[in-house]
Amino acid sequence: MHGNDSGRTAENHETVVVGAGLVGVVTALYLAPRFGPVTLLEKREAPRPDPGSRGRSLTVMLSARGWRVLSDLGVADAVRGICVPLYGRCGHPPDGRARVTPYSRDEQPIWSVERERLHRILLDAAEATPGVRLRFGQRVRSVDLDDPAVLVEDRHGRHRLRCRRILGCDGAHSATRAALEARGARAEVRKLELAYQEIDVPGGWLDRRTMHYWPTGDAMFAAFPMPSGDFSGSLFMRLDGPAPSYAAVGGGRDLYETFAAHFPEPAAAIPDIAGQLASRSVSTLSVVRCDRWVWQDAFALLGDSCHAMAPFMGHGMNCGFEDARVLVDCLDATVDWAAGLAAYEKSRTEDAEAISRLSYRHYFTMANPPREETPADVLRGRLLTLFPDRFSSLYEQCAFTEESYASVLRGDRRLDRLVADLLDRHGTDLASAPEDRVRACTTSFTTGTATLEDSGCS
Ligand SMILES: Cc1cc2nc3c(=O)[nH]c(=O)nc-3n(C[C@H](O)[C@H](O)[C@H](O)COP(=O)(O)OP(=O)(O)OC[C@H]3O[C@@H](n4cnc5c(N)ncnc54)[C@H](O)[C@@H]3O)c2cc1C
Repeated sequence: MHGNDSGRTAENHETVVVGAGLVGVVTALYLAPRFGPVTLLEKREAPRPDPGSRGRSLTVMLSARGWRVLSDLGVADAVRGICVPLYGRCGHPPDGRARVTPYSRDEQPIWSVERERLHRILLDAAEATPGVRLRFGQRVRSVDLDDPAVLVEDRHGRHRLRCRRILGCDGAHSATRAALEARGARAEVRKLELAYQEIDVPGGWLDRRTMHYWPTGDAMFAAFPMPSGDFSGSLFMRLDGPAPSYAAVGGGRDLYETFAAHFPEPAAAIPDIAGQLASRSVSTLSVVRCDRWVWQDAFALLGDSCHAMAPFMGHGMNCGFEDARVLVDCLDATVDWAAGLAAYEKSRTEDAEAISRLSYRHYFTMANPPREETPADVLRGRLLTLFPDRFSSLYEQCAFTEESYASVLRGDRRLDRLVADLLDRHGTDLASAPEDRVRACTTSFTTGTATLEDSGCS
């Protein structure tokens, strides 16, 4: 730590969680009842009492993994009250033919929630939980892993806070991650080529049972229903490079004209779109990879600090919540924190890598107008329908199950291979063959030299 750290040395705080974002608060809520006092340090000042008054907030999707955590923590009912169920995504391609892709085959919804309101519920729960101390205006500058402590800066200056263990939940631009890097961890923070602006979208012209997106290949606009009846929109466009990009278009009138040319329907429906485009800040997106997440019995990273990902599958927060749940499961299973933290790291890194890949890939599915289906696409879709007990879509498994993301990805690749093998053996006509032939070919293939299980498609 730096020379002028000496300042105040506060009492020994059992566990310090750095960052009171969504994942930090969830982590504190899990830990305090099991392992004693938790001090949550947040660099921002306390949030406003009524987040609704802000009028605008990013909307995030809650899936089964997120709900599992919210129900473990006793806040699921409160959160359900501010959510909107979504049954699919409705694409509005340039040809004007809107198409709905259901999220699940049995009409299960995922849930859209304003991030600020969800955060407020979690903060209220933390304030009401014995053992959780929430401190705002506390910026952690560095972490000492040898003699566990954090160096904190607040309006009184810098001071050192001793503790037994530190959990870094301080987001993509994490300061705590540097402590692991100093011990040889390799971290990569990459700014995505995409940037976005949040846009308010009035309701009344869009079906509220789905999210909506306008893919153009070059840029995408998306809108999510909110409980108020309005929608929260996001414009995604490349940050740099040839038009359309934020750099090439600049702001003001040119940005509005680009928007209107690419998205005529939303441009007509949002009365103050020109003003919003001119005034709303452009946010960048970063992805984070880190090959080590823990240090002995003293330190662990969770959430965006170790796996910030592209937002297009809607899993960054869900995955971060799952980190916290798996962490306490691992710690519950042993009295040895070093073993618990090592088990946590082993269990999560491959999963985070898998969902990060899927999230980035999903942007291209959503941003591009639907292409002509290939025989492989058609046969894949038919296998999902004909063998519902054996095959599920990747999206469904990520959103509606708690199966490991890595195993979902492996299963999806095996399904790709099965489809390719079937088309090789039986020709591309199989994709449009009658149902009994598809069934027979699939069953004979999978019960002959190989089985569905061998193909990894069960
Ligand atoms: C456009 C967009 C759409 C998204 N949609 C979805 C979705 O649909 N579903 C989903 O699951 N996820 C979604 N996400 C991702 C989700 O928002 C993040 O994964 C989640 O917010 C990460 O939470 P976190 O607590 O790890 O990090 P953060 O939310 O970044 O919180 C980190 C906290 O740490 C504090 N902090 C930082 N540095 C310090 C420091 N040095 N000292 C003290 N405090 C510090 C910060 O102020 C902040 O409060 C989306 C993200 C974006 C950008």
